[in-house]
Amino acid sequence: MIGMLARLEHLSTAVRQKVDDWLINNLLYASGPCLFCDEWTNSGTLVCPHCLTVLPFNFQCCSHCALPLPEGMDMCGRCLTAPPPWSRIVAPFRYAEPVSSLIWQLKYQSQLHVARTLGLLFAAYRQHELSLPDLIMPVPLHEKRLRQRGYNQALELARVLGRVLHLPVDTTSCDRSRETRDQLLLGPRQRELNMRHAFAVVRPLTCCHIAVVDDVLTTGSTAAALVRCLHEHGVERVDVWVMARASKET
Ligand SMILES: [Zn+2]
Ligand SMILES: [Zn+2]
Repeated sequence: MIGMLARLEHLSTAVRQKVDDWLINNLLYASGPCLFCDEWTNSGTLVCPHCLTVLPFNFQCCSHCALPLPEGMDMCGRCLTAPPPWSRIVAPFRYAEPVSSLIWQLKYQSQLHVARTLGLLFAAYRQHELSLPDLIMPVPLHEKRLRQRGYNQALELARVLGRVLHLPVDTTSCDRSRETRDQLLLGPRQRELNMRHAFAVVRPLTCCHIAVVDDVLTTGSTAAALVRCLHEHGVERVDVWVMARASKET
């Protein structure tokens, strides 16, 4: 399957997204070569049992910021003092190899099929602890960035999660209203300022519980800006679902 996708690289992103849609519908649990070692696997996630054991799972972590915590603790001191605006975060992985490479491929190398593996692993390992929302919302990309990249990696992940968890994916209620600088280049305080008023709700929201979906959470300033915006528009509970938690706060 991956080989087939590699041969599709010359096609436009729009066509590849259509192909990927078809793959999500028809081959969500297909077998194929492991994404990490190329061994044939029937695991459905396309990660073989051996490679699964070396993934940087993030089971023992703070329920609010997803940073690692000693066993038996639910919330870190920092979140107890100044809790983030969301109710709960789910981040199945630490942002470390080999998951960080997968996310990089999804985000910067148009490897959209990687979203299926990440989404399936998210559902397989964290579904039991999810409080299912009314809908999931990928963090919107600004129109200009979307044109440059050709796709929104958060939407690619949300589509898989929506399919696996049987949840609607809302891509129209909220916009990235302001173009922001690349967060990679900024420190924590600058990131917060950069994201101020970055999002706008453009259609009335009637649901009570939303989970915001993104690839990585670093300082959390992007997610926090979106969550605050949703709260301001009457959404009572907002959770954050990300594939990986980066621990570097710079
Ligand atoms: Zn493997
Ligand atoms: Zn915390």
